[in-house]
Amino acid sequence: MTRATTSRRSTTRASKSTTADERTHVGVAIIGSGFAGLGAAIRLRKDGRDDFLVIERGSEVGGTWRDNTYPGAACDVPSHLYSYSFELNPNWSRSFSPQPEIQAYLRGVAEKYDVNANCLFDTEVTLAQWDEASSQWLVDTTNGNFSADVLVGAVGALAEPALPDIKGIESFAGEVFHSARWNHDVSLEGKRVAIIGTGASAIQIGPAIASQVSHLDVYQRTAPWVMPRRDREYTKLESIAYKRVPYLQRAAREAIYWGRESFVLGFAFQPKILLAAQRMAKANIAKGIKDPELRKKVTPNWQIGCKRILISNTWYPMLAQDNVDLVTDGIAEVRPNAIVTKDGTVREVDAIIVATGFHVTDSPTYERIVGVGGRTLAEVWQEKGQQAYKGASVAGFPNMLFVVGPNTGLGHSSMVYMIESHINYLSSALQEMDKHGLATFEVREDRQRSFNEKLQDHMDSTIWTTGGCASWYLDAHGNNTTLWPSFTFVFRQMTRRFDREAYRTTARSDQAERGLTLVPTKEEVSA
Ligand code: NAP
Repeated sequence: MTRATTSRRSTTRASKSTTADERTHVGVAIIGSGFAGLGAAIRLRKDGRDDFLVIERGSEVGGTWRDNTYPGAACDVPSHLYSYSFELNPNWSRSFSPQPEIQAYLRGVAEKYDVNANCLFDTEVTLAQWDEASSQWLVDTTNGNFSADVLVGAVGALAEPALPDIKGIESFAGEVFHSARWNHDVSLEGKRVAIIGTGASAIQIGPAIASQVSHLDVYQRTAPWVMPRRDREYTKLESIAYKRVPYLQRAAREAIYWGRESFVLGFAFQPKILLAAQRMAKANIAKGIKDPELRKKVTPNWQIGCKRILISNTWYPMLAQDNVDLVTDGIAEVRPNAIVTKDGTVREVDAIIVATGFHVTDSPTYERIVGVGGRTLAEVWQEKGQQAYKGASVAGFPNMLFVVGPNTGLGHSSMVYMIESHINYLSSALQEMDKHGLATFEVREDRQRSFNEKLQDHMDSTIWTTGGCASWYLDAHGNNTTLWPSFTFVFRQMTRRFDREAYRTTARSDQAERGLTLVPTKEEVSA
């Protein structure tokens, strides 16, 4: 990594004037500046590195928290746990933080750790290609071309909106937009509005807009389980106490962490435990809705936990409002001024909000990352679905690490914990490269295979597989390639250090020979 000497100021300046054939070299190129990319950048800075570049298509840091600005957007993981461990925030206003506060937090953290200077905003990676000759990644962007020793994929699973393939939707004459691309120029006041979807986004949007629209149709394909949201404002006294005695906030965070971790028992080991939660969710329906017909419509026919458990105190009361209809007949087509359901009913609308989720296992980014032999990540993963070693590295893609890749998602706790675990792994990998003079590392295929076989074996008995639902956790092959099926502290332990013995490595001095000499691992030396 010592070869990469481009200063951050010259990196940014040079990239603006570079021609297609010129490349500015950086040690580490990080794609994305959400919690993952920003956290990685901060760690590199703390590790004393300055030779990194964060490439970000948005105009500022924040990722999903920058992009999801819909009314009612808020986190469903408690605030004290949903922050970096090194930067607790005593100023959260509520126990579940609203989106603007999280975005302001990330903005503030980026400023505090001086990360913006290393970011290239409004810049999209169009191609990242492994170059065997130079043992570098060649990264083409809309704002200059770069080479990098190491590529970090920090793009997140919830970045690319998935639009529904509904007949005629392109012919709709009114406003139509995805929940993650909210059009703030459009006023919904007094309009007839439709929401397609009843996932985590929709159940926040509905109650936030129902009282201002003249009529709201909610199109539900599958009823979700919705638990009460135990949300409250923090008192001034609490904030002062957390500021003056940070240990108190850390203790609160610990308590939340272990409380959440206990859910894993039900999700991944003993699904029967979740029946108690299902009873609570049923009581939530009974509390919010009086009409037996509507109660029936909103009661899921699959086990709680199979899809993400949603939390809301306002969803069911909203569905019971006079100006709201829950439509469950299935959409047949969209006409210029209406949505038509399969039973032939025509419902006129002025605006459609598409809250249909994201391309989780088929992100378009995978088509732009080209590894050994010219194969894209999308091609490699097409056959068996996305898989990586410890969610971080993929055979055939040397010197590339994900910060939260396949099978690192959570249904119960804070993704920031998983992100920080992977950042430890990244930091350790870079240190190993320096310490041993490595030019390349590439995970051994057999290690990746056995890791994933074990993981998928266990997945078969989890609620996500046995719970009787179809969810975005599963890929086209029916495999759960998104969630981590165990305790998060197990993941933390597993990613504590870069396990060089699981990788093929080449020494920097051998680069002239195109890295043909492998650096022996400890086992190989002793053998
Ligand atoms: P989602 O959970 O994938 O929900 C998408 C919804 O759209 C589902 O109800 C789905 O129905 C429906 N749908 C999809 N395609 C459809 C079609 N062609 N026709 C009709 N309905 C269709 O997406 P999301 O609500 O945006 O949430 C995604 C994830 O983001 C969450 O699981 C969560 O991890 C995260 N998130 C978190 C928060 C938070 O922290 N508060 C908030 C929002 C999102 P089916 O169930 O039948 O597929």
